[in-house]
Amino acid sequence: MSRIVVLGAGVVGMTSAYALAKKGHEVCVVDAAPGPAEAGASFGNGAQLSYFYTDAMASPSLVANIPKYILRLDPAFRVRLTLSPAFMAWGLSFLGNATQKAFERNTTDILELALQSRSGIAELSEKLEFDYSKTGKITLFSTKEGLRKAEGLSQLKNRYGAGQVVLTRAQALEKEPALAHYGHSFEGAIWSPHDEAGDSSLFCRNLRSLLERDYGVRFLFNTKISCIRTRANELVGITAESEEIQCSRAVISLGAWTAPIARTAGIWLPIWPVQGYSLTTPALTLAPAASITDTARKTVFCTMGDRLRIAGLADIGPINGKFREDRFRTLLATAKGIFPKAGDYDGEVQPWSGLRPVTPNSKPIVGATKVKGLYLNCGHGSLGWTLSMATASKLAELVATSAAP
Ligand SMILES: Cc1cc2nc3c(=O)[nH]c(=O)nc-3n(C[C@H](O)[C@H](O)[C@H](O)COP(=O)(O)OP(=O)(O)OC[C@H]3O[C@@H](n4cnc5c(N)ncnc54)[C@H](O)[C@@H]3O)c2cc1C
Repeated sequence: MSRIVVLGAGVVGMTSAYALAKKGHEVCVVDAAPGPAEAGASFGNGAQLSYFYTDAMASPSLVANIPKYILRLDPAFRVRLTLSPAFMAWGLSFLGNATQKAFERNTTDILELALQSRSGIAELSEKLEFDYSKTGKITLFSTKEGLRKAEGLSQLKNRYGAGQVVLTRAQALEKEPALAHYGHSFEGAIWSPHDEAGDSSLFCRNLRSLLERDYGVRFLFNTKISCIRTRANELVGITAESEEIQCSRAVISLGAWTAPIARTAGIWLPIWPVQGYSLTTPALTLAPAASITDTARKTVFCTMGDRLRIAGLADIGPINGKFREDRFRTLLATAKGIFPKAGDYDGEVQPWSGLRPVTPNSKPIVGATKVKGLYLNCGHGSLGWTLSMATASKLAELVATSAAP
């Protein structure tokens, strides 16, 4: 089996390395950060293994709300328009995916992928510790109309074995007693029994140990890649700030940074960063046991061991990834408003921000490129951890069936 270099040690790069190493490849993972899942979206994400809440980002309801997002009338979502050709091309394609038909197709395609991932995560949970829990998820709706629409989609998902059930307010309270301390009113909820949770950063750190120990995978950290070198449309190597890496096979899994690096090899990818925020705080006794998604405030709560992770906000536009105090304060205030007694909000709070690498149809891009030897596993959007094991297997199959350069 040949040597293959994986660019990026986020959850997508790490699971790619695992799937490739299992196939017998000699794998080397390169990342700018000092360790796995340290600098990208995999560090502080919403912690949900959301196998059945796979709704594509482009939807008729999102499009209807765009004026509100541009005018900053919704604290959870912001759109800043830019005249960059890459943004305009991505935006037009995104809008093309926002019809009801495309939304349902994209959502169920992602669901199928998520289901393939589920068994892979379960298999790894036998080998790794990552605060894994199978407590299910409650998605809350503040209006009858929202609940009715979600019920329709739920019926579609139940054909795939989602087992989702619509709950009245009273039934939701029975299932999750912490909802007695919910700070707003809600009409009803959807219970998704098979959704899971955990810490994707811990997952990546422990996966690194397993990869080094059992598969001899090598890691080059603190190594910032600047370009991909090709000759006559074949991969010849990777240029990093500190060294040249010779290789004839590589996979790009650089999350939100994938598009600019792929461009150095003449490959244009429709991936746009959508910035989100999270906070982690000790979970108090009134923290919910199940994962909670508050659809009105687009905020998720997940208990990971003795910690509570709260994530939300989606800022689309000319984003440089900088942490913005005002946006973080918005999330903190939203969290306090939703579950005032669930976390130590005025004490120990770990703030974080990350970029979701979003494609117009919310589906990851896995495949070979026009450059021989160069593959992609990227564009996982809001569900990178959930989908990671499926896209990694898909990638490994593809590499196995393509002739070694
Ligand atoms: C607020 C928020 C909440 C989310 N919640 C969930 C959730 O609940 N469940 C879920 O499944 N998903 C969730 N996601 C999405 C998920 O986190 C991402 O889809 C996933 O982490 C993407 O993984 P990745 O490996 O592709 O990218 P990343 O984790 O971003 O990793 C990219 C890696 O590339 C490295 N890198 C970048 N540029 C270079 C360079 N030039 N040279 C070398 N290395 C470089 C970075 O250091 C980084 O390690 C959420 C995302 C956000 C932002």
